[in-house]
Parts: sequence; C-alpha cells; structure tokens
Amino acid sequence: MRYSYLNLYRPGAGRFSGNPPYGYRSGAAPLYTRYPFGEPPAPTQQPSPVFRFDGSAGCLLPPIVSQSILRQAIVQACRMALNAAHKLEANPRDSVTVNSFRSIFGHDPAQPLPWPRINDSGTRFAIRFRSVEQALLKAGTLYRCDPCTAQSRYEINAPTIILDVHAMAIPPNEVRLCPSFWSLPPLLQAGVVLHEMFHLRFDPCFAHGATETKRTNAYCYEAFALSFTSQKPDPLTIQKCSASPP
Ligand SMILES: [Zn+2]
Repeated sequence: MRYSYLNLYRPGAGRFSGNPPYGYRSGAAPLYTRYPFGEPPAPTQQPSPVFRFDGSAGCLLPPIVSQSILRQAIVQACRMALNAAHKLEANPRDSVTVNSFRSIFGHDPAQPLPWPRINDSGTRFAIRFRSVEQALLKAGTLYRCDPCTAQSRYEINAPTIILDVHAMAIPPNEVRLCPSFWSLPPLLQAGVVLHEMFHLRFDPCFAHGATETKRTNAYCYEAFALSFTSQKPDPLTIQKCSASPP
C-alpha cells in the first residue's frame, strides 16, 4: 500500500490512532473563532480540510504538533483564498482591492476578457482563488516534512519539483515543507500553503521560470491574499512577484 507509512500515530496516542492510511478529515477544533474579513460563516460552513501528513522525517516538532499547525495553516489558507475571491467578485469592488490588485498583478481587475461568462480579469482571478480553496479542502494533498537540502531534493523521485524558499511542490498532489516553514508566523504559513496549492492545482502553468508572468506567478497570488490580512508578505514574496512581467 503506497501510503501505509502515513499511519504515523501510535496505538493509544489519542484520536489519531487508527487513522486510515489514506486521507482523513482532520480534527474538529473550533474554526472561525475570529473571522477577520467580515461576517462569520454559519457553523455548517466551517471547513474541515482533507489532507495527509507524513511527519516521519525532517520535522522540527513532534508529528502531532506539526500536523495541528499544518491543519491551521490549511484552514487559514482556505479562508484567505475565499476572501480574495469575495473581494474580486464584489460589485462594485472596493478601492483597496482594486489598488492592491493593480499594484500586485500590474493591470486593472476590470480589464475586459473575451471569454463567455467572464466579464473581466478580476472575475477570472476570483475563479482561480475559489478553485485553489476547493483543492485545499478536498484534494487530499500529501504534506511531508523535508530537510530541503540538495541531497533530499536529489532523492525525490518525481519528474517535476517546484522549489520555493519554505516548501516544494511536487505535482500532482504533494507538498514538502522545509524546516523554515515551521518558524513562520501563522499567516505566512497559510500564505505558503496557498502558494504551493497554486502550483499543484494549475500545474504546469504556474511553474516558476523565464516564461511566467504576474498572472501565473504564485508569489503574486500569495501577496494578494495576504494583502487583506494583518500580515505583510515576506519581502522575498514581493520581490519574486515584482520580477515577473505583467
Ligand atoms: Zn512557488
């Protein structure tokens, strides 16, 4: 069984014992205790992301602690993605949203598009944020701790590895979390998780490289989602987004 090693929790180690080896719904801790983006959703809308976690190697913290931190980051990433979508779907859009979008993506969200049922660029970007939110919730992505060294990258047997500072995305459905991820502020952890899901969800269109533009740069989407929170993006995130053409 391919993921049999994922049954990480010892018998008697709490509610995680006996987890099925495949994706599971993570714990039911209260979510949305504070909802910084307006009205809190109804309790039935509380997300319970389906994901897998392998903390058997390279984690700085005990696996059960890492798993809990990761779950919070995924939930927060969902919240940020959905909020970005809501901001872009608003009619009219508020000036903060429009200015943030222009500044980060280098064009106006009202820029018209020729495609049916999509009036403008902002609507298209909202669809992408919603798609990533759904993937964060339901894709059963495998997250693993990784030392993120040259040797560990060499040992990854995958045709595509997208390297970032705090994580690596391995399409179609795996994310490696580097040691530095665990010491980031919670909102930046969520930003990283959101960023990596853009790589997975839109592979191969969102690979970093010479052909990427701000429209396909996961750093830009991460910065835009963070712009509605109290957390400034990492300067490197801004720099990597700014370096791409519009
Ligand atoms: Zn990236």
